[in-house]
Amino acid sequence: MKRIGIFGGSFDPVHNAHLALGRLALQHLGLDELRWVPAGLPWQKSRQVTPGAQRLEMLRLALEGEPRFVIDTCELDRSGPSYTIDTLRALQAHEPAAAWFLVIGQDQYARLDTWREWPELLQRVTLAVAGRAGVPPQPPAALAAVSHRMVPLPLPPMAVSATEIRARVAQGQPVDALVPPPVARYIEQHRLYQA
Ligand code: ATP
Repeated sequence: MKRIGIFGGSFDPVHNAHLALGRLALQHLGLDELRWVPAGLPWQKSRQVTPGAQRLEMLRLALEGEPRFVIDTCELDRSGPSYTIDTLRALQAHEPAAAWFLVIGQDQYARLDTWREWPELLQRVTLAVAGRAGVPPQPPAALAAVSHRMVPLPLPPMAVSATEIRARVAQGQPVDALVPPPVARYIEQHRLYQA
């Protein structure tokens, strides 16, 4: 049976913790492929996100040469807010026989009960949850009360976040240690995240 992971995010920009998490998911879950799904309109983020085409290009640059990493643009191609449940329905309809995993960080797991149609989402996937800053995954109360499949991903704590990267660029500080080199070049060339 094919094993497929889904990894969604705003990826504004994609950074080294995303890559570490993606590689760990491939290996730890024995995935045939990991589908990276950049969000169209991330409905839970209040700030203005960078245009989808630029976030997609940075993702392309970051994932180059990793054959089991696949980019799926279904959320960018859809209009309206990006709900994961809609993405799951669309992707799973093409491969109903596969085993599906949804890769998320602890911060997302802790608020999963705010996601649209979350009980159905839990029926459709095994969650693969990376602790953030070394904290083991804890479900919110509503999730703890229902049975769901969850595999912890032993990601070593990585303090990097896209928020920090945007702030550093705005302050003129280097981000070379936090993103792959072609992504750092892209940010510079396209003058992203300037104050
Ligand atoms: P932002 O700072 O803009 O909110 P982010 O760095 O959290 O962004 P996203 O694109 O929102 O990045 O995240 C995509 C997924 O990656 C989420 O499930 C998030 O929890 C996870 N993730 C991001 N950074 C880390 C990290 N340092 N450790 C573990 N998981 C992470």
